[in-house]
Amino acid sequence: MTPRYLSSLDLNDFTQAAREVPYQRIDSDLFPCVEVWIRRDDLLDPIISGNKAYKLLFNLLEARKQGVDTLITCGGAWSNHIHATAAAGCRFGFNTVGIIRGERSPQLSATLQDAERFGMRLLFITRQSYRRRDHPGFLKELGIVEQCPFFIPEGGANLAGARGAQLLGQIIDNTCPVNADQVWLACGTGLTWAGVQCGIGKVPVIAVPILKAADSIRNAAIQWRVTLANGGKQTSSRSTIDSRSGYHCGGYAKYPNYLHDFQQTVERETGIPLDPVYTAKLLYGLHREIALGHVPAGSKILVLHSGGLQGRRGLLG
Ligand SMILES: *Cc1c(COP(=O)(O)O)cnc(C)c1O
Repeated sequence: MTPRYLSSLDLNDFTQAAREVPYQRIDSDLFPCVEVWIRRDDLLDPIISGNKAYKLLFNLLEARKQGVDTLITCGGAWSNHIHATAAAGCRFGFNTVGIIRGERSPQLSATLQDAERFGMRLLFITRQSYRRRDHPGFLKELGIVEQCPFFIPEGGANLAGARGAQLLGQIIDNTCPVNADQVWLACGTGLTWAGVQCGIGKVPVIAVPILKAADSIRNAAIQWRVTLANGGKQTSSRSTIDSRSGYHCGGYAKYPNYLHDFQQTVERETGIPLDPVYTAKLLYGLHREIALGHVPAGSKILVLHSGGLQGRRGLLG
């Protein structure tokens, strides 16, 4: 399957590309007794793909509307968000600055090498300074003097980002070829989870947290849902919020052998590439929950492929 291509910064064009994202049936003994489908948002665009593209969309539209030259954001050395922001800046004509957690290492990660190639100016700061990233004085403290900068928080986690995830939920609702009983997605901050649940309406969206802080993620997601519901379209108050914790496999970016083996098996059986940080854990969690009898037999499950394939280079070499 070939990716779509986001050729312009335009809501209608983006929505059209998102509506054309393919869905695929997964036939595998790893997921017995249920019907599993996957939405391939890794194929939204060759580079600006996955949920990060949705979280960027309304941020970029707002930046364009304000006539801003420079996007500033922050993240770690393998950040999918840094990568997507750098690529989007290059393609749609914004300068970009990436504030990176930690020292510059002599050998930059493949993600950061790409970001520099896309024209992003990288600014490395200590972990201690990085902790102040959500503080209003953050940019000033770093001495950032860009004219008219537009700041996007780490991971695209702001209201504009949530609205993008909500759009994804609406598009799934309009385009999914099956009547799914459940939608499953990988969850880091919980923002995509909240947005998709708001956009999709009644179908339960089940999150697999890929790091240990399952409770705080859940609270963050509930907060985002309230914010979205008040600021935009009213959501069904009865729509559930459900997560399956215990599949972080040791914590953020931890990649034990059993997960590596599982990912290889999935990729071999389905031909679908996964990333080790998010989607491998998502499918592992689904696989285990089915084995434990926690998913009703005969359920139709839609899994969201949230992209992140550039990050394969970090843990898979
Ligand atoms: C960032 C990311 C997520 C998590 O999104 P949140 O909105 O932070 O929960 C999931 N999958 C991939 C591939 C990501 O890059």
